[in-house]
Amino acid sequence: MRLSPGIRLAATVVLFAIAGVSRAQQPAPDLVLSNGKIITVDERFTIAQAVAIKGDRIVAVGANPEINQLAGSNTRRIDLMGKAVIPGLIDNHMHLLRAGTTWLRELRFDGVESRKQAIEMLRARAKAAGPGEWVYNIGGWAHQQFADDPKSFTREELDQIAPNNPVALQESYYQVFLNSRALHAFGIEANAPDPQDFVKGSIVHDTRGRPTGVIQGDIAATRPVAARLPKVAPDQLEASTRALINDMNRAGLTSIGVPGCTSDVLEIFQTWKSQGKLNVRIFCIDGAAAGAPEQVEASLKQIARMKLFQGDSYIDNIFFGESVYQPLHDPMFGLKSDPRPDQLEQWRRMAMEIAKAGLPLHVHAELHNTIDAFLDQIEAVNREHPIKNLRWTLVHLNQINAPQLERMKNLGMYAAVHPWAVINGGIMHEGFGDGAYDMPPLRTIQNSGIEWGLGTDGTAANQYLPFTTLYFAVTGKMAGGAKVMRQTIGREDALIAHTRKNAYLVFQENNLGSIQPGKLADLLVLDRDYLTVPADQIRNIKPVMTMVGGRIVYDVDPSAPASAR
Ligand SMILES: [Zn+2]
Repeated sequence: MRLSPGIRLAATVVLFAIAGVSRAQQPAPDLVLSNGKIITVDERFTIAQAVAIKGDRIVAVGANPEINQLAGSNTRRIDLMGKAVIPGLIDNHMHLLRAGTTWLRELRFDGVESRKQAIEMLRARAKAAGPGEWVYNIGGWAHQQFADDPKSFTREELDQIAPNNPVALQESYYQVFLNSRALHAFGIEANAPDPQDFVKGSIVHDTRGRPTGVIQGDIAATRPVAARLPKVAPDQLEASTRALINDMNRAGLTSIGVPGCTSDVLEIFQTWKSQGKLNVRIFCIDGAAAGAPEQVEASLKQIARMKLFQGDSYIDNIFFGESVYQPLHDPMFGLKSDPRPDQLEQWRRMAMEIAKAGLPLHVHAELHNTIDAFLDQIEAVNREHPIKNLRWTLVHLNQINAPQLERMKNLGMYAAVHPWAVINGGIMHEGFGDGAYDMPPLRTIQNSGIEWGLGTDGTAANQYLPFTTLYFAVTGKMAGGAKVMRQTIGREDALIAHTRKNAYLVFQENNLGSIQPGKLADLLVLDRDYLTVPADQIRNIKPVMTMVGGRIVYDVDPSAPASAR
């Protein structure tokens, strides 16, 4: 049927009228946040004043009058009093679920920049725990972060601080400090053979053959200690995981990419989700890496059966990772690698099957030669099974260089960057000399134009606090303030890498990463403005409120009237 121009015009007017009516009849938002500085982190980095939320989604973002007029009689209003709001922060790689099994028992030093304070914390925890109970942490710190006195701990000192408790303090995956009771508990004694499960030479002895309390030598050396430490009791696992998630929300994290979604903790998350009480979104990175040539066949079969993206925006499986073939998993503090052709062949068989199955891959890649060798394999895989739309991602990348970034870009790959130097800057400078100033080469990565996001690799390899990571990216300073990296980036780019880009890296770009109509209402109200606070204070920024899916999951002072926050 052909319409005359007049009728067509009338039809258009009617359509407009209908649109107008339906808009007027739209239910009022549940919540309006106004009078703030809304750092939306949208594509144009728009700054707004107010946000309206209905259910779990953002429905409008704009100026105060336009958002305020949407409110109805049942709309809850929060006056932000000029405070800055940013999207909920996303860590694209943190071993979160594993941490639930120890969190309540750990004495965490993340962000503790005073040795004096750390000692006071130790003393208080030993007293609270009672005689004979373990006092320990499993990584997340290094002594170089103690600005007042960047010294390690001695056996004698720990004996003095906690004479009645076994103590184990693990610095990243670099070394562990034990006191006499802990050495005794592990059966590490003077003039006795070292326990079988410890790496040969990792137990440091003094000239008289007495163990000094230091266990040293990368992840393999520290692992036997962590394996022997008591986890929380099964009936405490939920409480421990709850404490962990509360700490994540308090730190500003609302979504996390999780290598290794262990089933016992995952079950707790599923229960919370069904009750509407899951306060962090988790995107699992999992899959059976082969540990030896004879395991490859079995792994290939598992890959062919693997199904991703069966979940939702709270819990999902999104990547195969973070290892493909264990013998080519670079150690954390290794200085260089020499991947063998036979090992690379096994790696390629695995990668080929992953590509053939159409699975996204998220793989640990650190040392120069390893990255080059992986890219050789991926280029070969790509010729048979194109990976273009699979978001294959190399992760950690503290030593990536510009030509490697170019190769990744040409393959349509992504970069998940985890600056280990945030706590390990001192250790890395000892190993790499001035080369460590370019680890990771953040400016090179940013300027390459590759899509990339920031994370930590916490909670053992690194600390977990996102504002400490942002501070590092902007200042090049590690926790405690020592300058360890020279390739700093602007604070807008750093924030984009911790929000919108990470939403892409966890396959949630339509739901997360910016404050825009239609996206999930995950956001933070900050105690100071990320964009204007002196750069050295970025690590001190604290959320006063954290929201996940329109629910307030952390509130610095729930009893205070909203306007006083
Ligand atoms: Zn890793």
